[in-house]
Amino acid sequence: MTTPSTSSALPQFSMDPAPNIKCPFLRQTFRLFRFGVTRLRTQGRSTAIDVDSPIERLPLELIILILDYVPVVSGASLSLTCHSFYSCLRNRCLDSLKKAGQSTTCEFLYCLERDLPNHVVCPSCVQLHPISNAKEYHLPSSTNSSRAWLACWRKDLTSGLERGTYAEFSSTGFHMAMKAYRQSRENTQVLKLLGCESKKKFDWGFKEQRTAEARIQNGSLFVREQRVFIVPSSKDIPLPWFGGIIICPHISFAAMTSLHKYGIQIPTATEIEDFENKQGLIDCNHCYTEFQVDFKSYGKAGNAMFLTRWMDLGEGRDFNDHKFRSRLSSVEETSWTEVVYQRGSVCASFEQKPAADFKFDSILSYQDEKDLTTEIPWPWPERIKVTLVGIKQSYVVRNGSLVMLRNL
Ligand SMILES: [Zn+2]
Ligand SMILES: [Zn+2]
Repeated sequence: MTTPSTSSALPQFSMDPAPNIKCPFLRQTFRLFRFGVTRLRTQGRSTAIDVDSPIERLPLELIILILDYVPVVSGASLSLTCHSFYSCLRNRCLDSLKKAGQSTTCEFLYCLERDLPNHVVCPSCVQLHPISNAKEYHLPSSTNSSRAWLACWRKDLTSGLERGTYAEFSSTGFHMAMKAYRQSRENTQVLKLLGCESKKKFDWGFKEQRTAEARIQNGSLFVREQRVFIVPSSKDIPLPWFGGIIICPHISFAAMTSLHKYGIQIPTATEIEDFENKQGLIDCNHCYTEFQVDFKSYGKAGNAMFLTRWMDLGEGRDFNDHKFRSRLSSVEETSWTEVVYQRGSVCASFEQKPAADFKFDSILSYQDEKDLTTEIPWPWPERIKVTLVGIKQSYVVRNGSLVMLRNL
């Protein structure tokens, strides 16, 4: 029996095959790999095409027969190993992949992602998103408004990710930052997208200033958001008259005065100068979130409430990781699972110092503080008074946890 030569077994492919692929994402994927092969050649590294591979000496009929017994993802992967295989197997393997559905296609993309340092798999879009173009994929507001919404933006919106984190956070940005970190590549820009510098908001009679920052510590992503509200010093209770607070999918305060209902200590305007926060950090029992509420007098400029919270999002290797999934309001089956972690560990990991050493007013820059203490432009609405009278306390803060009074 004679062994057929490579040329008789597998026809050589000399033209760009990518335009022949009907499915746009597969066409894009193949172009990516063609670029990869060219790069390997220019770096002097061997590729499947360059070696006299035994598999290339097999008759094509035999290879096709073998493919009937291997997973669709393996067949598709083989068809992308070189131009020869691509030429012979593309219709069979890539069409099978297309017909196999989204989860199989994602499985295939995850195989490819391992060799693509600049890309992450987006399971919602069923595509590879380039990290170097992170801004285009991070948030809808950061791109051209005429662009159609990506499936991952819709997924973040419908799963309540903003409620579990904050407005600047996205699942795609998170995974891009973590992949770049694991590959020891530049990730400063992606991390920056996951936070925000001082954002200011005015309302009738009060002002709000907000910052958010993301940092990777010991292989996990930690974020910190701080909201500062300032009200006129003439107001007896140093809380805005309007708005609520969301800490995580499990703890929220429908109105500012709900803080009192949950046992958070709120000083009056006359007490604020000497007020000391004895409750410290409060943690959520269902996700890796810690927060604290502090108050500070700025004299005649007003009285401020500082709400600071820290979150541990995990390693970002898998969208099903509990640290990430527990932030999604839509995930009923896992969101109320109890989690145990050392009190203060989330804050300490972010700050890289003991939680007790964190100074709540140390995040504000000189300019932030100056902006915060300038005159509030719009007057406090007449006839509206913030009072804690009549608000029944249902919880107490005990050892850093919110405990229902009826359970005591
Ligand atoms: Zn996407
Ligand atoms: Zn929570």
